[in-house]
Amino acid sequence: MIPTLVLVGRPNVGKSTLFNRLTKTRDALVADLPGLTRDRHYGHGRMGNQPFLVVDTGGFEPTAKDGIVHEMARQAESAIAEADVLLFIVDGRAGLTPQDQAIADRLRKSGRPLHLVVNKAEGMVRAMVAAEFHEMGCGDPLVISAAHGDGVRELVELALEPWVNKVGADETAAAGDDSAAVAKVPKVAIAGRPNVGKSTLINTLLGEERVIAFDMPGTTRDAIEVPFEKNGKHYTLIDTAGLRRKGRVFETIEKFSVIKTLQAVEEANVVVLMVDASQDISDQDAHIAGFAIEAGRALVLAVNKWDAVDDYRRERVKVDIGRKLNFLGFARVHYVSALKGQGIAGILGSVDKAWAAAMKKMPTPQLTRVLGAAVQKQAPPRHGLSRPKLRYAHQGGSNPPIIVIHGNALDHVPASYTRYLEGCFMEAFKLQGTPLRIQYKSSR
Ligand code: GDP
Ligand code: GDP
Repeated sequence: MIPTLVLVGRPNVGKSTLFNRLTKTRDALVADLPGLTRDRHYGHGRMGNQPFLVVDTGGFEPTAKDGIVHEMARQAESAIAEADVLLFIVDGRAGLTPQDQAIADRLRKSGRPLHLVVNKAEGMVRAMVAAEFHEMGCGDPLVISAAHGDGVRELVELALEPWVNKVGADETAAAGDDSAAVAKVPKVAIAGRPNVGKSTLINTLLGEERVIAFDMPGTTRDAIEVPFEKNGKHYTLIDTAGLRRKGRVFETIEKFSVIKTLQAVEEANVVVLMVDASQDISDQDAHIAGFAIEAGRALVLAVNKWDAVDDYRRERVKVDIGRKLNFLGFARVHYVSALKGQGIAGILGSVDKAWAAAMKKMPTPQLTRVLGAAVQKQAPPRHGLSRPKLRYAHQGGSNPPIIVIHGNALDHVPASYTRYLEGCFMEAFKLQGTPLRIQYKSSR
């Protein structure tokens, strides 16, 4: 599972500044998509090959009894309970406060791995700052400046140490040909907010098809993976947010967990995003969709409960999707009834296509030809006296496909032109179903 770092601390200590810094490298890869709103509390980070999730709990006040602060504390509590690593942020300039002490007590009780992070320490003597916070009993404080970036890399390395080592060991053990097998069987996550019909869909899917191995041991913290087969094709279903097998069927037995949903999305190759046709598209739908795009996942949109809505409502839902999820233009849409088993085969067909698109091999000569044709048809706009020169392209990765464009003065290619190029590559290589990343490499 993807490790989750949860940032906790009283207001104004610099959590959101640190959050932005931790998630910046990933964000930079995501094109500036119109309509895409980011959830500022949940983000992706990456260190080397190791992805991680970052959760900012906002201003955590464990003693609040009611109102909005209490609600925030409640959400923070559930994030703390699910954290793989807690980063407890304090303000090195303000010094130690009683509120910090109260939070520290609360965090220690959680039993989760905990690092004390002293922020705003630029220009201060590390040893002295650390000494002051030692008495909190949270171990050696890590002294950083989120605003300047000092110590942030060391912080992430330390926090992720258990995973980074593990990844290295796994790779040596797997010795090559396992990765080919992994690449052939797509991991599919069925994601969506509570009650859209995820468990109904899974049961319909698995009820019809042969489930190959159903006894993966799983504690509540582990992902459950269910391999299954349909029409001779293999898939691995990843458990999402509180879906658990009970007897022969899946049930929603836990309360909805954003972190589990996002971990499953990150873990998956293809995400089936489910929305409910009887409800308007909500911010939560849009945030899950946005997160899937940031993770670069191939995506199929399933609009469920189509049996339960009339023509008026159907039109309205289509308009609503076009407006609020317009950044999902690359994804195929299916109008289905998980309950009645209508339209379900189409979803798997689109999963196959999206997966094939996500793994497409694009040879350099072809990419460069498509690039040339695109530039010929519409050149990038001038910037001052110079015009960006796009010379050739090669593939830099898969799932999502990354296209690296080489040339000169590429810093000034506008986002709108990048989107134009994306469209050209999408069409030429039939990439419908997956987001695409374009990176620029200027030579001097
Ligand atoms: P949050 O409420 O914990 O999310 O805190 P913010 O990230 O919003 O930061 C609160 C204030 O502290 C802002 O004015 C930040 O610019 C400032 N701040 C954050 N990190 C640093 C830092 O490393 N050094 C200094 N001097 N100020 C910082
Ligand atoms: P989950 O929380 O996303 O797993 O949602 P469930 O699968 O538990 O479904 C929530 C409710 O919606 C249940 O009462 C289902 O019977 C109902 N439901 C699910 N799919 C459909 C559908 O296609 N049509 C209708 N009318 N109801 C559905």
